[in-house]
Amino acid sequence: MKTEKKAAPTIIVIFGGTGDLANRKLIPAFYNLYVDGRMADNFAIYGLGRSDYNDESYRETMYDSLKEFSRREPDAEKWETFKKSIFYFKSDITNEKSYAALQKKLVKLDESWGQRANRLFYLSVSPRFIEPVTTNLKDQNLVEKVEKDRIIIEKPFGYDKESAIELNNLLKRTFVEEQIFRIDHYLGKETVQNILAFRFANALFEPLWNRSYIDYVQITVAEKVGVEERGGYYEGSGALRDMIQNHLLQILCMVAMEAPISFDAEEIRNRKVDVLRAIRRIKPEEVSHNAVRGQYSEGWIEGEKVPGYRDENGTDSKSNTETFAALKFFIDNWRWQDVPFYLRTGKRMQEKTSSVTIQFRPVPHSTFKGAQADNIVPNKLTINLQPQMDIRLRFMTKKTGLEMNLNPSEMIFNYDDCATDTPEAYETLLLDAMLGDTTLFMRSDQVEEAWDVIKTVQESWEGRESINFPNYQAGSWGPENAEILVAQQGHVWSVNTKKIDSKKC
Ligand code: NAD
Repeated sequence: MKTEKKAAPTIIVIFGGTGDLANRKLIPAFYNLYVDGRMADNFAIYGLGRSDYNDESYRETMYDSLKEFSRREPDAEKWETFKKSIFYFKSDITNEKSYAALQKKLVKLDESWGQRANRLFYLSVSPRFIEPVTTNLKDQNLVEKVEKDRIIIEKPFGYDKESAIELNNLLKRTFVEEQIFRIDHYLGKETVQNILAFRFANALFEPLWNRSYIDYVQITVAEKVGVEERGGYYEGSGALRDMIQNHLLQILCMVAMEAPISFDAEEIRNRKVDVLRAIRRIKPEEVSHNAVRGQYSEGWIEGEKVPGYRDENGTDSKSNTETFAALKFFIDNWRWQDVPFYLRTGKRMQEKTSSVTIQFRPVPHSTFKGAQADNIVPNKLTINLQPQMDIRLRFMTKKTGLEMNLNPSEMIFNYDDCATDTPEAYETLLLDAMLGDTTLFMRSDQVEEAWDVIKTVQESWEGRESINFPNYQAGSWGPENAEILVAQQGHVWSVNTKKIDSKKC
């Protein structure tokens, strides 16, 4: 039986309703959910901010954003009905009077609908506002119903393990865990969710998914862009915190977790935490052997000269912030003992690509000798997450002809062949949050363990100025030491060599 998810009547309150995230992601996501019939008949979106909008002018701004950022062109008729559910509320986020006034508005709406609607509070503001918002929500009785009232927290969730624990304790003063939705938008991506389907809905791959058959795993999230307008924010963050601690470690969990017994939120999240707990902690004296940091200098991207990181707006001219990070991890359990997991992310890289590579071991004995064996390469599974979205399995085949010569070939599942209307990650996650489904959100212990995994690297990099920054050119694949990190065990970064795979017969 096919079941379609549909939200219950919900009032969505966006703190930071005039900000970049609300404009680019949140309002377009709600609009597309509405067009797809996933919003309840009764719903309302309150954008909160300090600027002088009224409902009408706020709606007009949101319409402009929709035209620019929605995956669908807005439909005039649908927008006319959708916009009636959008409201603007000018408020000071730190002033309790704003919350009392908001409560009155929400109660009035509930009365007009004849029911106490669910409430979803989206904190699309700087993390420093988490404390005043949660305290005021509690004190002004806006979140009294555990089963109906929820809060979404954006990244970054803390800046190290201790601050994440503090933040979790702060949230627990107002909410129970089931009400807290810590968002990592990577988990909402179709291609990332598909890792679980691929692994656990097929009998074929799971028996091979272990140290006996897999040589190493690589996860790359490479961006072509630099820090753009976010130099100020990025200076206090860096690649390790901004990408590895959350997105890349979450993908690693999906690849490495044990088979869950059900698709229940707690079961899935338990299996992921097991992985994080099993990741061998890098000792302080091992950091330089297992982790490489980089910062880009000026270079060329698509024929255009781009500035180095230290010359970007908002950055320090002697910055120690890394724009590239590559780490090698081991997972201490039966399945993964001694299999390296390489994680790499960087800005101003040669290509924009996010992918997972599962590199299988070579055949134990080659039947093919001499020239026949010239092209033999081990099997490889590549899961391209974005912008290319596909799954590729490389395997050896006979080259057509009278000789028994071999060539690598690929079996490809391409999303474009079967999906026309792929929802954005934020659509998936917002719908789940409205339904109270926490599966794709991070639990408190997940976040804390993830910070713990990178703790020694973080402390080492922060405590020691890099003497060779900038150490990679914009438009390259990062610093040379990242190649050495994998070469130590005879490996290469798969993404950099992927052209080899597409050899034609
Ligand atoms: P932004 O600076 O564009 O927007 C911040 C919003 O907060 C604005 O609407 C502003 O009016 C409001 N605000 C600030 N001070 C206020 C006050 N005293 N009272 C009331 N409102 C106030 O930021 P953003 O890019 O939208 O990011 C919001 C959050 O989401 C941040 O935590 C950020 O790290 C996170 N995030 C953003 C993105 C993104 O793509 N923009 C991606 C991931 C995470």
